[in-house]
Parts: sequence; C-alpha cells; structure tokens
Amino acid sequence: MTTELSLPWNGGCRCDRLRIRVTAHPILTMACHCRGCQRMSASAFSLTAIFPNSGFAVTEGEPTIGGLHGEHRHFFCSHCKSWVFTRPHGVDQFVNVRPTMFDHVSWFVPFIESYTCEKLPWATTPARHSFERFPAMTDYPGLVAEYASRVSNSTTSS
Ligand SMILES: [Zn+2]
Ligand SMILES: [Zn+2]
Repeated sequence: MTTELSLPWNGGCRCDRLRIRVTAHPILTMACHCRGCQRMSASAFSLTAIFPNSGFAVTEGEPTIGGLHGEHRHFFCSHCKSWVFTRPHGVDQFVNVRPTMFDHVSWFVPFIESYTCEKLPWATTPARHSFERFPAMTDYPGLVAEYASRVSNSTTSS
C-alpha cells in the first residue's frame, strides 16, 4: 500500500501508447453522473482526480482532442481512443485525470459526486458529498480542505 501511494504515479491508456505521470497528490476526487460522462465513459459515471497542473505530465505519446471539441478540452489517446484527462475551461492551474488510467488504482475513492439529477437509478458511489449538478465555485475551497484533512488522517492512522 505504501509503495502504491508514494509518488510519482504513472499511468497509461488502454493501449499504453499514451503515458502520464503525476508528482503531486490529487486535491479532490469525484464521480460525475451526467449524461455526457455516461456517454464518454461508456458507463454509469465518469471518475476524476483533480491534480495541480504543475504536478502532471504526459510522458509518452501525443494526446488528441476528443469529446465535444468545445471549451473544455477532453484529451484522448489517438490510437485506442481512451479518455485520459480533461483540461476544464477557465481553470488552467488544474487538470482532471481519469484515475483508472493509473497503474495502481486501489487508492481511488470518489469524495464528491455530481449531476445526481441525471444518474442511473441504481448507480451509487461512496461519495461523502452529493450535488444535484456541479458544486458552486464557492463550495470548492471547503471541499478541497475537507478532502486534504481526510487523506492526511487516513495516512497517519494507518
Ligand atoms: Zn459529467
Ligand atoms: Zn491508447
């Protein structure tokens, strides 16, 4: 477990041509039940770990834009088309990484969930906070602080 949690964390897409590395811990983790994420993930919800952009790097391969090709830039592997990370519009200091791309994934638990208004009736997550849509921008500082305190508690107590 300690080995899995020590940085850096490496990851890759389904075919492993696109490789990523993070050298910082996530500031927040989430699951999104929106219809867009259902379609792009081909599943009931998408999973996200938000990292500081300064702690994120593409180490192999060339990501390509996919999804809606809109203001939020969804980055995919150009070969296997896995959705690997997203650069949300207007928040240059953070990058949303799909946590199941990491070589080790057992650490991941969604701390918040969004768009429960569109969730499949049976879809449940262990998220501590549920939002009918997205949290308000003003909710994020408190959520980030609470996530950080929970992570440091679990590290020191285990
Ligand atoms: Zn979504
Ligand atoms: Zn690939």
